[in-house]
Amino acid sequence: MSEPQPSAATTKQVMVRCPSCSETVPYRTDNPYRPFCSKGCKAIDLGAWASEQFRVEVKPKTEDFPDID
Ligand SMILES: [Zn+2]
Repeated sequence: MSEPQPSAATTKQVMVRCPSCSETVPYRTDNPYRPFCSKGCKAIDLGAWASEQFRVEVKPKTEDFPDID
């Protein structure tokens, strides 16, 4: 469904967009940071994910609910 598609039939190279910097990079199985372009981008994304989780976790939910009688 959402698998990366080859950019051309004549090549096995699969291009993916780095989730962090949106740079289009070759998807390589020997890249330990895939689908990110680099170690830095992977660290950024993990950091953003962690802070998002933290923010959601500490967010008070009481005000999100209307008064139901
Ligand atoms: Zn990147």
